[in-house]
This record gives sequence, C-alpha cells and structure tokens, in this order.
Amino acid sequence: LTEKFGGTLSKLKGARKLTDKVINDALRDIRLALLEADVDYEVAKSFLKRVRERALSQEVKRNLSPAEQVITIVYEELVNILGKEKEDLKKGTVLFVGLQGTGKTTTIGKIANLLKKKGFKVAVSSTDVRRPAAMLQLERLAERIGVPYYSFEEGLSAVQIAERAVQRAKQDGVDYLLLDTAGRLHVDEELMEELKEIKERVKPSEIIYVADAMQGQTALETAKTFHELLGLTGVVLTKMDGDARGGLALSVRESLGVPIKFIGVGEKVEDIEPFYPDRIAQRILGLGDIQSLVERAQEVIPEDKAQHLSAKVLAGDFNLEDLRDMLRMIQNMGPLDKLLGMIPGIGAQMKNIKVDEKQFKRIEAVINSMTPEERRNPRIINMSRKKRIAAGSGTSISEVNKVLKRYEEMRKMMRKMKGMAGMPLPKFPFK
Ligand code: GDP
Ligand code: MG
Repeated sequence: LTEKFGGTLSKLKGARKLTDKVINDALRDIRLALLEADVDYEVAKSFLKRVRERALSQEVKRNLSPAEQVITIVYEELVNILGKEKEDLKKGTVLFVGLQGTGKTTTIGKIANLLKKKGFKVAVSSTDVRRPAAMLQLERLAERIGVPYYSFEEGLSAVQIAERAVQRAKQDGVDYLLLDTAGRLHVDEELMEELKEIKERVKPSEIIYVADAMQGQTALETAKTFHELLGLTGVVLTKMDGDARGGLALSVRESLGVPIKFIGVGEKVEDIEPFYPDRIAQRILGLGDIQSLVERAQEVIPEDKAQHLSAKVLAGDFNLEDLRDMLRMIQNMGPLDKLLGMIPGIGAQMKNIKVDEKQFKRIEAVINSMTPEERRNPRIINMSRKKRIAAGSGTSISEVNKVLKRYEEMRKMMRKMKGMAGMPLPKFPFK
C-alpha cells in the first residue's frame, strides 16, 4: 500500500522529459481509474490514445513533473469532453426516457421543481399506462411540488395521452411539459416503438435519457440504442450520491456526443445538481482535487531538496537527518490520507486507511533528541545514548529501537532501489 504510494510519488517526482515510458506509466494508472469508474472500455481506449498524442507533442513544462503534466492533460481533456457549459432545457415538451428504475419519475419531479422555482410555468404527465402506480407516483410528486399533473380518462394509449397532454399544455400556456414514459427492465421493441411514435406525434423539444450511474459497463450500450432510435438531446445521470464515480458520463459524451444536463444526488426533490464537468472529471479520475495536488507537490517539496534527497538515496547514503527531512516534507503536505486520496488509482483503496500523524511527530521527536553526529552515524548509538534519547524525546528505549530498526530497513530497501529514479518513500507508520 505505502509502497504503491511511494511508487506513485516517485513517478510524480521522476524524470524530466515526457518520454514514452513516463507517459505510459502515468496512463496505466489513469486507465485503471477510468475502468474502475465504469468508463466503457473502448471509450477509455480512444480517450487515452488522444491524451497520449497530446502528451507526446507537448513541451515539458518546467514547473510540473512529467507525470503531473500527463495527469493535467488527462484532466483538461476530460473536462473538455464532458462539456464546458451547463446547458439549459429548451422550452416545449420534454420527454424522459430510460430503463425502469433509473429514476425517470423522480427526476421529472426534481426538474419540475427547479423550473418552477425559476419562474417557469410547468406541467407534468405520465404515459406509463401499464403501471398505474407509476402514474400515481408522479401525480403525488406534482401535488407536493405544486405543479399541475395532467390526467385523462382511463383506456387511452401512451401515445394518446402524450398528444392530449401537449394540447392541454398549449391551452394552458405552459413553458415546459415534462412527459414521463414507461420503462422496461431491458430494451424491448414494443417500448421502443411506443417511444418512437410518441416522439413523432408530439415533436418534443428535448428527449432526455435518464441513466443510473450505478449501471456499470453495459449502460453505454443501452444509451446507444435509445440514441439511435430517438436522437437524445440530453442525459441526466442519477444516483450520483452513491459510490458510482460517473464513468458513464464520459462514455455518453465521448461515444454519443450527448450533453449531460443534470446529476441526481438523492431521492428527495431537491437532490439535483447542474452538471459540473470539472467535478465529474475529478470524480472519474478518483482525484480529490487535482489542482491542489499539483500545487502542493510543488510548494512543499522544493525541487532541489527532493532532488538532493533522491541523490543521497541513490548513492546509498541516507541518514537519520534525511529521514527527518523526509518526514517533514510528508507532514507539510497536509493530512496524509487526504494527500493519498488525490493520487489516481489509490484514492478509492485509501479511503479507509488512517495514517497516524502522531506517530510521525514521535519519530521526529526521537530523531530531534539525537546529536547531529548520532543522526549522521546511527551506529554509534549505544545503550546509554538510547537512554538519553528516550528521556529527551519523552519516549521509551523500545521506541528508539523501533525508529533505528525501521531506519536500517529503509536504508537496505533504498540500496536495493539504487538505479531506480525518483524518491522512494519509507513504510509508515512505524509499528
Ligand atoms: P423510474 O422507474 O425510472 O421512474 O425510477 P423512479 O423515479 O421510480 O426511481 C427509482 C428509485 O430510484 C426510487 O427509489 C428513487 O427514489 C431512486 N432514485 C432516483 N433518483 C435517485 C438519485 O439521484 N439518488 C438516489 N439515491 N436514488 C434515486
Ligand atoms: Mg417511473
């Protein structure tokens, strides 16, 4: 785990040129992050291919390590594809389609509420004739929100309901008529025919596909089928309050080119947000906050200091003073778990790990209580010195021993890593 952290950080602080190897290493992490976020495999592949080309053609920026630069390109490209501007809904009849249980009815309630608050005249209706309970669900929602629900006599077909609802909306001078449709567990022809007919009859201003962010890798195929048949004008990604990282947003954008309009973040009427590409990009990559990762890495590891340490490590010449420097750098980077959460491919796994920062302080205290000579040459630390150090640092002899033991292990490990680029990190916390 911490080895992985060390590996990634050394990648981050590694070579100075955007070489094939650096790019490939960074992209391997990104590819994993994308697939973990349920981005469609082919989409991830073509996306990374473009990033790779951009990275190869880019000049090395002085203030970024190559790996950071690659991540930045990935991030920018992702935000670009996801779409910069929040797009509004065109006035008229807005048709909501999608599989059953994805959140169509709930989303209609949320959007009706939003539009109403903005001062638009809104009405809703449902064509889900096979499931009276689903119609009732929308009717109740409409009541609560305070928008009219258009209901008609029983026995009408979905298409007939749609037509009449549109007529009524015109009479009422409604800005937006939000039309719910039947869902199915799987794409089926009967449903598709029905939707196609509704589309032809009511000429909707928008056809919004409601997609469940938790649907995973097959979701893109379903979205494609709907798009080919109906020509979607927008997507709402629901259930983003869960664990889903929202890779479907990238798949939909990249493969269908359809804009994401909103995201659903809960079951309540207020639980809807505009689609912010930068936030979703970070979430897809599993980066807490990519901007601050880059900034912080630059701030607290002055290039020369890090380089100096790397050089010493490479020379197999690593003493307790260097260890202390390293500890300070790590601590300066802020809460460790937070930092780790910013690193692609690691964030998700690190969520539950708590790094004990108090331990760091104690180790530093032990090292501080040594004389400079002891720090540079720990072999001279005998029992009486240990007693003095333990007393001086308010720790115990066994704790001093642990620090020395781990230092020795690290030194050995670093010797082994000789010839590898970057700054390897020790295993923490000490146990
Ligand atoms: P429909 O069959 O497509 O109309 O789906 P519904 O609107 O009936 O929603 C199905 C279930 O998903 C309901 O239990 C909703 O409360 C829930 N749901 C819808 N949107 C969200 C969301 O954004 N977050 C969460 N957590 N649940 C949602
Ligand atoms: Mg429904």
